[in-house]
Amino acid sequence: MSNPFDVQQAAVIGAGTMGRGIVISLARAGLPVLWLDNDPQAVQAGLAMIEQTWAQQVARERIGQAEADACRARVRGVQGYAELAEVDLVIEAVYENLALKQDIFRTLDATLKSTAILASNTSALDIDAIAAVTRRPEQVLGLHFFSPAHVMKLLEIIRGERTSPAVLDVALDVGRRMGKEAVVAGNCHGFIGNRMLASYVAEARKLLLEGALPRQVDQALQGFGLAMGPFRMYDVVGIDLEWRARQLAGQGMDAPLVQVDNALCALQRFGQKSGQGYYRYAPGSREALHDPEVDALVLEVSQALGVRRREVADEEIVERCLLALVNEGAKILEENIAANSYDIDRVYLNGYGFPAALGGPMAWADNQGLGAILARLERLQGLFGEHWRPASLLVRLAAEGKRLADVREGRA
Ligand code: NAD
Repeated sequence: MSNPFDVQQAAVIGAGTMGRGIVISLARAGLPVLWLDNDPQAVQAGLAMIEQTWAQQVARERIGQAEADACRARVRGVQGYAELAEVDLVIEAVYENLALKQDIFRTLDATLKSTAILASNTSALDIDAIAAVTRRPEQVLGLHFFSPAHVMKLLEIIRGERTSPAVLDVALDVGRRMGKEAVVAGNCHGFIGNRMLASYVAEARKLLLEGALPRQVDQALQGFGLAMGPFRMYDVVGIDLEWRARQLAGQGMDAPLVQVDNALCALQRFGQKSGQGYYRYAPGSREALHDPEVDALVLEVSQALGVRRREVADEEIVERCLLALVNEGAKILEENIAANSYDIDRVYLNGYGFPAALGGPMAWADNQGLGAILARLERLQGLFGEHWRPASLLVRLAAEGKRLADVREGRA
């Protein structure tokens, strides 16, 4: 039986970094795409950029000229919502602001045909709060792409409280057509990937204040096999994104853990885009060069916070950052945000550069043995406090001699 929500024609709202990659992915999947931004210049610039991407792909023989021409012909800029009335799927990728997204969803709901699916590319906002402003919450979901969206394989599909199974099926199908590794996640702050990342990054930041330096943290984790340590990753993503968000929200600026980031941003050290962040970059190069000024700044910040720095071993860095991932992953599983541990591993392998040979953070934990993982978490809890309390799922599985891989839909 055909699905009433089948997607023949798509639209993208927002022609910034993410909108561009999403348009390329949809067009490569063979879907006609209408493209809208409230700044018409942004669509023009976006069209020029994707034109360039396809020309490069032809030059590198990744796609043929005929395929590039066909993709180009599928994408059309539009001026207003009325032109989107007949699309089957719209993906919104405007600024990360709930009120703005809600406004757009209200307009989409009022303008698009009743079977259209409305998706948001939000990185962390509440999908249910977005769905709630529409009269079709069962057709609202998150489609969380990773940057650059036409390159990164991972697609988190966020099911809201009321998203219907038929709509999820269609989203999974669109994910497949785009060649993505699609993982369904429940609705919580940061979903699967960014929620785990937050715990991991918090630990990396604590280690800086306790005695480690950015290059040491990155090298220790890269030595474990991660594609990129957390501070190199921040330089790629832009240290300023979270800093601006803290300023806009008017909260979080005073937290000790973000003081190094705040100090870097105050010096306009935003990362690769400004030629310096946690590292230095030669003009036009992406090679992260050690910068003693950053080490000095880390020492200054820890001193200002009254911390007595100590020698931190590489093993401690790996232990704390990895176990932070595992413990948060176990909570995500327990809360049924992920259907199984394999989905969590797919997120980390395809979106966060976890070493493929280890199978993902959950598979790594299973292979260590959950009894051993639990003992290591309890040791950290004794040393550093309650935030290391092991997830109750880990306690139970360890007692029952089971693995994270035995859990399905929150139950083992
Ligand atoms: P961006 O700033 O590069 O682009 C946003 C675009 O939205 C701009 O072109 C702007 O003109 C347009 N816009 C703003 N208000 C609009 C409106 N009312 N109507 C139509 N268009 C409007 O932002 P981005 O980095 O592409 O991020 C977009 C979304 O994707 C955000 O929700 C962000 O959290 C999410 N996201 C970003 C990344 C990333 O790495 N950049 C990764 C995953 C998800």
